[in-house]
Amino acid sequence: MSDKQPLSTRDNPDDRQRKEQRLSWRFTIGYLIGLLVLFWLFQQFILATLLSNAIEIPYSEFKQKLAAGQVVNATIGESTIVGEMKNPQPNATPAILPFETVVQPSSDPQLVEQLQQAGVEYSFQPPPSGLGGFLLIYGLPLLMIAGLWYVMSRQIGSAGGAMGRIFGIGKSKATEVKPEEVGVTFKDVGGVDEAIAELQEIIEFLKAPARFARLGGRIPKGVLLVGPPGTGKTLIAKATAGEAGVAFFESSGSEFIEMFVGVGAARVRDLFEQARMAAPAIVFIDEIDAIGQSRGGVMSTGVNEEREQTLNQLLAEIDGFKTDASNPVIIMAATNRPEVLDPALLRASRFDRQIALNNPDLTGRLQILRIHTRNTILAPEFDLERAARITPGFSGADLANVINEAALLAARRNADAIGMSDFEAAIERVVAGLERKTRVMNEQERTTVAFHESGHALVAELAPHGNPVAKISIIPRGRAALGYTLQMPTEDRYLLTVAELQDQIAVMLGGRAAEQVVFGTISTGASDDLQRATELARRMVTEFGMSEQLGSVRYAGQALQYLGGQIEDNSQLSPHTRELIDGEVKRIVTEQYERAQALLRQHRPALETLSHKLLQQETLDGSEVELALTGHARIGVDVNGETG
Ligand code: ADP
Ligand code: ZN
Ligand code: MG
Repeated sequence: MSDKQPLSTRDNPDDRQRKEQRLSWRFTIGYLIGLLVLFWLFQQFILATLLSNAIEIPYSEFKQKLAAGQVVNATIGESTIVGEMKNPQPNATPAILPFETVVQPSSDPQLVEQLQQAGVEYSFQPPPSGLGGFLLIYGLPLLMIAGLWYVMSRQIGSAGGAMGRIFGIGKSKATEVKPEEVGVTFKDVGGVDEAIAELQEIIEFLKAPARFARLGGRIPKGVLLVGPPGTGKTLIAKATAGEAGVAFFESSGSEFIEMFVGVGAARVRDLFEQARMAAPAIVFIDEIDAIGQSRGGVMSTGVNEEREQTLNQLLAEIDGFKTDASNPVIIMAATNRPEVLDPALLRASRFDRQIALNNPDLTGRLQILRIHTRNTILAPEFDLERAARITPGFSGADLANVINEAALLAARRNADAIGMSDFEAAIERVVAGLERKTRVMNEQERTTVAFHESGHALVAELAPHGNPVAKISIIPRGRAALGYTLQMPTEDRYLLTVAELQDQIAVMLGGRAAEQVVFGTISTGASDDLQRATELARRMVTEFGMSEQLGSVRYAGQALQYLGGQIEDNSQLSPHTRELIDGEVKRIVTEQYERAQALLRQHRPALETLSHKLLQQETLDGSEVELALTGHARIGVDVNGETG
């Protein structure tokens, strides 16, 4: 039951990394099992025949030879006797032959006596104790395998990398796109004019490196693209290759990290070798933070050594194409977490261009929408400009996604063109996830959700800076939301005032406030709202310096590097300050909660009207909120919860 603003969906790089790690574990386990099987075969067929070249003789023959004085020595085991006997053929070599015979010592009580009489040197073999025997048979070899594996793991890929090459492990997994197959140019990228300007020099260099060098241009090496997911980092890198007409090597940082130390470095080497062969070329490394994470982080495991070697190799490669204008290779890398990158990577001589990409503004969105609707059929009434206006905060990938969904929706209703309504419905799908009509709520739950969502919507409408409501629904969507209130900001906002932030918090708490006002209790559905409201209040106090008590000082600590920077280190704050912060956060949240409640109490009739309509129709347009309020006097409530 959260009010969703159009936030961008993100593809999760962490997931991908985890998948890679799982894969490499699977590889390791498979490798070990393979070795065990090999070892077992070895033991069964080779060791057995190698070690026991003893002649197997029947027990009766053994007894005859014993009587004839031909047995030299014997070791009596639980079920076998092994020993040496004289060669039956006289004067043949060797004179002494090993033998083995199967025996049941208990069935031959005289055996020892006879051995004694024949003057044979004999001994008994202790029965292998369960664990000892097991360890001897399996533990020792296992230890050997582990040792071998360790040695291999250091060898594979590293140095000569012969082993690595044999197994193909040191091969780069990058995909090569031939110049004529790149297929995208800057015409396919929208809203990134500054980035395109920055990349001109790279293109000139790749097109005519010799001339570029002769004219005294400083040979560029690397470009680091920084920006949130879906802003077109991969696309722009590829388009650069398209513009320059060079080959494009696409790889991802996580592809380089394996269990074996040295593999990553070998892959980096292989990648650049391939690129130099295909030069002029662009090597693109996505999610470079997987390799380029700052060294000496908190995690110190074997993975670190591997990562460090890989990073060093990468640095060496970058430094390597210093003066070589004959095989020009440019490295482009992308990350959405520049703060975790190793400073060595960021040094100006490595990635000498750093380009920041952000979610597009209105003009950018319009450009991107134009690009992605080039090959679609739009209804005559379709207003691209309006489409751009109602999608603030969307990334390029989100927009591409919305257009795609809209086309699907249009196809589903057998229309011959995409209408504005398809586009709006598609926005909703992309923002809130798919409707799930199968989730059955009982009447009590539906009523609670209806009041909850109406609460969000009314507070949004009543608060002076609330974003207009586009839609309210009590149809469950996506994973968590039981219902949702969709707000559409009318414009892009970069600066927010205290009053606006306070209004946002009040809207977030509007659902909970409605439950409190109507039922006198609250449900668990409001916990997500509460968390978001508290987070925002905390940022107001610690980051934006918006609390008079604490003043204009930043208290938010540095986000720690591990755990994806989610944990803040505020160990340097005194307990007193922390108490003050907590107090201020609580004050802000409580004030807004009370304000939301007061607003809803004053507009109780509108709240009832809206909720009942919502229960009947399940989905309401934003205009219904206003409609519910007409006829009831609007009363403003100021920040402190008093009627104003
Ligand atoms: P990133 O690498 O930043 O995560 P991608 O380049 O993979 O983003 O973008 C994914 C898709 O989104 C692209 O293939 C393209 O269809 C669309 N897209 C993203 N940004 C833009 C843009 N600026 N202009 C046009 N399309 C874009
Ligand atoms: Zn809610
Ligand atoms: Mg990408």
